[in-house]
Amino acid sequence: MIRNHDYRLAREKMVETQLIPRGIKDPRVLEAMKEVRRDLFVEEALVGEAYNDHPLPIGHNQTISQPFIVALMTEAIALKGDEKVLEIGTGSGYQTAILAKLADKVYTVERIRPLMIKARALLADLNYRNILFKAFDGTLGWEEYAPYDAIIVTAGAPNVPQPLLDQLAEGGRLVIPIGNKYSQELLKVTRKRGTCTQKNLGGCRFVDLLGVYGWKE
Ligand code: SAH
Repeated sequence: MIRNHDYRLAREKMVETQLIPRGIKDPRVLEAMKEVRRDLFVEEALVGEAYNDHPLPIGHNQTISQPFIVALMTEAIALKGDEKVLEIGTGSGYQTAILAKLADKVYTVERIRPLMIKARALLADLNYRNILFKAFDGTLGWEEYAPYDAIIVTAGAPNVPQPLLDQLAEGGRLVIPIGNKYSQELLKVTRKRGTCTQKNLGGCRFVDLLGVYGWKE
């Protein structure tokens, strides 16, 4: 089932032309982006475009994010290796794989069950052992394993969902696209001594975060 050709050169070129020139510096992030086979997370017909500089459709009206955005969000949460990370919006599971390489444990939530099932099967085939999956409304977070050292939301929301702030550990980092349905700003929220500070990482465009604390369905 796992396709043979490895695309290593395509990944190296992606890192050198799309990530480094735009300021991605964390060596661990660059290494993970060189290792994880994005071609395995897109459908067969799109494999030729897997390392291009844009998002791609993954079915159910959803997309796998542009490689640069995956790298930018991952770098923003500054993982060292011992963290518990919550991801909202598993989608193809590509961002999940990058996180699983860089953190101790990844908890990922996806509202579209067939996408969750597909990503879970692929990541099991690829031998990832530190990921837990849940088909659920991620705007509510995943209370059971909270608090999280980092939270990453890969769909755009009108506001930061309060349950996610509540589930962020002291010193924790949250990245989330906030805006209207057509464009958002990528926000990084850091929680220190109970208060949260925000930094704007720039413009972006994501699919909608749908749910109780997101856009209404
Ligand atoms: N990181 C993914 C991006 C997927 S697109 C990848 O690289 O493939 C965003 C995903 O967020 C979609 O799969 C969508 O179904 C999901 N999503 C939207 N609202 C959600 C919610 N409330 N809870 C969980 N997932 C949600």
